[in-house]
Amino acid sequence: MFDAAAVRREFPILDQQVHGKPLVYLDNANTTQKPLSVLEALDHYYRADNANIHRATHLLSERATKAYEGARERIARFFNARESAEIVFTRGCTEAINLVAYSYARPRLKPGDEIVVTRMEHHSNIVPWQLVAQQTGAVLRVVPMDDAGVLDMAECARLIGPRTALVSVIHVSNALGTVNPVRDVIALARAHGVPVLLDGAQAAPHMTVDVQELDCDFYTCSAHKMYGPTGIGALYGRKELLESMPPWMGGGDMIASVTFEHTEYNKVPYKFEAGTPNIAGVVGFGAAVDFLSRFDLREIAAHEHALLEQATAGLAALDGIQFVGRAPERAGVVSFLVGDVHPHDVGTFLDQDGVAVRTGQHCAQPVMDYYGITSTVRASFGLYNTPADVDALVASVKKVQGFFS
Ligand code: PMP
Repeated sequence: MFDAAAVRREFPILDQQVHGKPLVYLDNANTTQKPLSVLEALDHYYRADNANIHRATHLLSERATKAYEGARERIARFFNARESAEIVFTRGCTEAINLVAYSYARPRLKPGDEIVVTRMEHHSNIVPWQLVAQQTGAVLRVVPMDDAGVLDMAECARLIGPRTALVSVIHVSNALGTVNPVRDVIALARAHGVPVLLDGAQAAPHMTVDVQELDCDFYTCSAHKMYGPTGIGALYGRKELLESMPPWMGGGDMIASVTFEHTEYNKVPYKFEAGTPNIAGVVGFGAAVDFLSRFDLREIAAHEHALLEQATAGLAALDGIQFVGRAPERAGVVSFLVGDVHPHDVGTFLDQDGVAVRTGQHCAQPVMDYYGITSTVRASFGLYNTPADVDALVASVKKVQGFFS
C-alpha cells in the first residue's frame, strides 16, 4: 500500500504553518512541492559539479556533462522513449509545444491545412497553433466536449481527415481533471497518417506514460508539476520527426560547424538546445524522475483517485456545491463553485485556514466560456496529500458557506 504520510516527510516545505494553521497544500496541478532528494541534487550540483557542459576538458565540466546527459537518459527511460536523443530539454511544457509549432508545423503547413485541438486545451496548446495558423493560413479545428467535460469522440472522428496536418490534445485536463481517451484519438489520427502531440503536463505526475505504447509522435511535460524544479521540462519527439525539423533557436551547442557562408547543425537533440541550458534544472528533473520511479505509479494513481473520490463525496454532501467537470475518468483535480460566492473569495477564505487551492480560469478560458463562468475553485492532489488534507478542505469550504450565508 502506498504510504502518503511517510512520503510527506520527505517534503520539508509541507511542515509549516500559514496564517497560524498547518499548511494543506492542494495546488499541485499548478506546481508541486519538491522532495529532499531533488533539493539535495540541486545543492550538490552547485556545491560540487557546477561547470558548463559539452565543451571543456576539465573534470568539473565532465561531471556536469555526465549529470546532465545522465538525467536525459533516466527521463527517456521514465517515458520509455527508444533512446535519449528523443528527449529535448525545454523550459517546460509551454516551450515544448511552441518548439513543435515553430519547427514542425510552421515550415510544413499550407493554407487550408488543419490543426485539431480540443475544447479543453490549456492556453499553451491553443495560442502557439493560432500563431502558426496566422503565419501559414492553416485553420484550427476544435473537438467539442459535453457538460461532464468529456470529449465528443464522434465529432473528433469527423474532424480528423485528409486536411488534418497535426492533432494536439491535452492528455489530462488541468481545469477539469478529465483523462482523455488519447489512444482513440491517436488511432483516428494514425488512420490518416497524421502526427499527434500529447500535452502531458497533468498526466506525467499521475500515471505511467509510455510513449511507445501510446504511439504518440510528441509528448510534452513540465518538471515542476512532477516534483522537480521550475523552468525545465521536456519534449519527447519521435527521432525521425525531430531529425526532419529545422532548429528554432540558433547559437552555441546547436551547431556542428559555423562559417559566415554556411552552418551545419548538431544532431538531435542538441540541435534544439541552443546556448547554455538550465543544467541544474535538468539535474533536478533527473532527481525528480528518480523520486517518482521509486513508486509504482499505479499505486500513486490509486491513492490520488481515493483522495479525489473522498473530496467529491465530502463536497457533494454540502449544500450548493456545483462541480465543474464530472468525467467518469479523472485524475488529480476537482473543480467546483460554492453557491454564488466568487471563487476568489473562496480561495482567500481557504488560505486563511491554511488550505492552498487555485482559483481562476486555469489558463483554460474556452473551458470557462463553455460553462458560462469566469473561474472555479480547483483543489488538486499530489502523492503526499492525505485524507486529513481532504477533510481540512471540506471543513473549510463548509465554513465558507456558513460565513457567506
Ligand atoms: N498544459 C497543461 C495541461 C498545464 O496544466 C500547464 C501548466 N498549468 C501547461 C500546459 C503549461 O506548463 P508550463 O507553464 O509549465 O509551461
